[in-house]
Amino acid sequence: MKKRLFTPGPTPVPEQIMLRMAEPIIHHRNPEFMEILERVHENLQYLFRTSEPVVVLSASGTGGMEAAITSCFGKDDKLLSINGGKFGERWSRLGETFTGNVLEITIPWGTAPDSDELARLLKQHPDIKGVCLTHSETSTGTASDIQTLCQTVRSNSDALILVDGITAIGAHEFHFDEWGVDICITGSQKGLMMPPGLALVAISRRAQDAIEKNTAPQFYLSLKKALASHKGNDTPFTPAVSLVIGLDNALSMIREEGIEQIWDRHARLAAACRTGCEALGMRLFSSSPSNAVTSVWLPEGEEWEAFNTALKTDNGITVAAGQDEFKGRIFRISHLGYYDELDMLTVIGGIERALYQTGYEFTVGTGVTAVQKTLLQEEMKGAALQD
Ligand SMILES: *Cc1c(COP(=O)(O)O)cnc(C)c1O
Repeated sequence: MKKRLFTPGPTPVPEQIMLRMAEPIIHHRNPEFMEILERVHENLQYLFRTSEPVVVLSASGTGGMEAAITSCFGKDDKLLSINGGKFGERWSRLGETFTGNVLEITIPWGTAPDSDELARLLKQHPDIKGVCLTHSETSTGTASDIQTLCQTVRSNSDALILVDGITAIGAHEFHFDEWGVDICITGSQKGLMMPPGLALVAISRRAQDAIEKNTAPQFYLSLKKALASHKGNDTPFTPAVSLVIGLDNALSMIREEGIEQIWDRHARLAAACRTGCEALGMRLFSSSPSNAVTSVWLPEGEEWEAFNTALKTDNGITVAAGQDEFKGRIFRISHLGYYDELDMLTVIGGIERALYQTGYEFTVGTGVTAVQKTLLQEEMKGAALQD
């Protein structure tokens, strides 16, 4: 059976990238590798829309988040974290672990943060040193308006702005320099069409100054060390050589398609996925849906285990389950990274098959038809389609 992955990390990897990574290993201190790393560094700046350094860490995305917290802050530094899902919560837990001083704004799962509450807390606590935000909250499929949140922080505080961009980079418009972000992190297995194993961290001038001054203990995940090596297109420790080589390929593909075109493609596929789900009678979970992942409620009467077994075992399709209190009640469909229009027909077609196989009552083809229409209407610039 052909297996198809529709999870928001890991995401599918193009065959040409897999092949490139299968080539004989090279040594990381030889000029051939340094040339690759130089090109990777340059293309990462293109991806994040920045002229500041973006360092490559051999770690998963969370390693990049931990590197940011431990490199920028020390014990007792006050952080503000917005928690609207598993990954906002991760920022809070990291802050509690390393500074022990976290103010948290909790918002209901599936909603996007509002800047008024953020402004109010920043005014009330002028000693806040860092604000931790999540651009695309993967556990709920929710996108935040990061540009507005950044403006709010900037006009009320000198705090550093840390953005978890792990499923936003590539899927949502993002401008690191223009929006005044200080740290943004992504992971290789999300929008970059790569296997897991690399964290990419963009670091502003202001964050570099904070890192320089910070005396808190750090070693492997030190951004100070990573920045020092970055200058010479080098890494402080042995990098995940094969992954960096694969990333070189992935970033060339991204440059070739163009970042604006990639944002547009994600918006298009996300819209198609949402209409397909709604046409099948499944309600959207998020009031501000992400372009990386669509979260939907299981239809009334549908049982998650049976549905997922039909989807995975009989149709080869893996989607992501709901988490915490939404386990068994919602599920999440990824369209992040290496996906195209026909993939959306496939996943909605697979969901239709699983719904049919588990006895859900609907008109077969409704979801697929909605996807076709949404995509074709968009491509034909709104020209009416024949039924
Ligand atoms: C996947 C993900 C992470 C965690 O990344 P790991 O690579 O699993 O450590 C953090 N934040 C968001 C928004 C994610 O989607």
